[in-house]
Amino acid sequence: MTVVRTRIAPSPTGDPHVGTAYVALFNYCFARQHGGQFLLRIEDTDQVRSTRESEAAILRSLKWLGLTWDEGPDVGGPHGPYRQSERSAIYRAHADALIEKGHAFRCFCTPQRLDEVRKAQLAAQQTPGYDGHCAHLSATESAARAAAGETHVVRMKVPREGVCQIQDLLRGPIEIEWAQVDMQVLLKSDGLPTYHLANVVDDHLMGITHVLRGEEWISSAPKHLLLYGYFGWQAPQLCHLPLLRNPDKSKLSKRKNPTSIVYYERMGFLPEALLNYLGMMAWSMPDEREKFTLEEMVAHFDLSRVSLGGPVFDQAKLSWLNGRWIRESLTPQQFGERVAQWALNADYLGRITPLVQGRVERLSDLGAMTSFFFQGLIEPNPAELTVKGLDADGVRRALQWVSWRVEDTTPFTRDTLEPALRETAELLGLKTKDFLRVLFVTFTGKPVSTPLFETMELLGRDLCRARLRHAQTLLGLMTSKEDKKWKAELEAAEKALAEKKLAAAAAAVAPETPTL
Ligand code: GLU
Ligand code: ZN
Repeated sequence: MTVVRTRIAPSPTGDPHVGTAYVALFNYCFARQHGGQFLLRIEDTDQVRSTRESEAAILRSLKWLGLTWDEGPDVGGPHGPYRQSERSAIYRAHADALIEKGHAFRCFCTPQRLDEVRKAQLAAQQTPGYDGHCAHLSATESAARAAAGETHVVRMKVPREGVCQIQDLLRGPIEIEWAQVDMQVLLKSDGLPTYHLANVVDDHLMGITHVLRGEEWISSAPKHLLLYGYFGWQAPQLCHLPLLRNPDKSKLSKRKNPTSIVYYERMGFLPEALLNYLGMMAWSMPDEREKFTLEEMVAHFDLSRVSLGGPVFDQAKLSWLNGRWIRESLTPQQFGERVAQWALNADYLGRITPLVQGRVERLSDLGAMTSFFFQGLIEPNPAELTVKGLDADGVRRALQWVSWRVEDTTPFTRDTLEPALRETAELLGLKTKDFLRVLFVTFTGKPVSTPLFETMELLGRDLCRARLRHAQTLLGLMTSKEDKKWKAELEAAEKALAEKKLAAAAAAVAPETPTL
């Protein structure tokens, strides 16, 4: 019998997501339960959005949760490299093999042509997709044009008729009409693979037997199955797990719910409790007990106990479970150690005390002055969430502009935050001091506090995001209409400011305007 091998294949394009940990956990349990192996592969084919920082953060967070893998970019293994950006030659060779066999073809279409086709299809109320234009070029012409250096991508051939049947371990057979499946680009014009090619080639070469992944990938399954067939490989068993949901049942998103594992760490959740809670998403113990360890989950894991109703990631339930872990599973000494690991440690304290030294009269003043460094969400007084010169909606808009800055400012440090937020004040036409006051209230609960930008850096992006969102909730969350409007207004203000600066610079270079 073949050994079960599963994997988690995160794309390092953002914060470590609880959804990644959830899928990793299920793959881990499935593999361990069958005495098999669990791998970690980094899918960084999106060169623009992938970063090493994100990769490091994902690995760190999964380890923090207590998950381990047998092969991966950090631990190595016999099927490496485990980072797709280091496997380009492998994908190119496989794309060539598909062209050779007539299962893929070079497409020389220009973006303009593809755009026109798309528009025509939409106008005729057809599903937009590639029209097969280059599929029938002769092999000689195709090779000659490529040899002459003409820009092209490689696309897979897809039948235009019939249905694809996917056998899903949880859902049984799923049928998708081939006509709905696009002739997917496999290799981009820069010679690098798309997700679909890299994913299939790697799952095969890495000996993956079972693919447990989020249900958002169901629509990609026909392309993948077709590719396995083209290569003459046996496809792994597919199993699409239900997506995590916000309490309103929409897909879990950071606009409605914190999704970064770092946030939960920062809020003081125990890794065991978070992992336990993720295990309760879509799965339950045979005896329905809610508190269980990773080992217990491995011992009892069974796909037949996965339910397809969208599991709701509920903060209150998670907090309740975390409380049980703290009370029932830690000795007093362990609890103390955990608190120290979390924030009462020399490192964190050592970064906070310099911020208040100039203002304390007694050491005991420290507590009240720095309490917000040890809190999760804080409760600012809504009456203090005001800005001189702005009406209530103006404040709401200003906080939203800040929230976009909080997302965009990387790295999240004093040195990057200060210019970004000073500029926001300028964009709003406000005095910096008047504007920053509301941010003090938002992030520390008080209009006067430790230096703002250092404080934000120490709190970190995840906690800042959560506190900002909480303040926005107190004032009334942004509507989707406002979202569009405020974005456009921000862009206009940025443009005006850039022009103003340019004019000022030009004036500085040529101070004397000749007068006639
Ligand atoms: N890189 C994909 C992701 O980020 C992997 C999807 C899959 O498991 O096939 O989720
Ligand atoms: Zn084409």
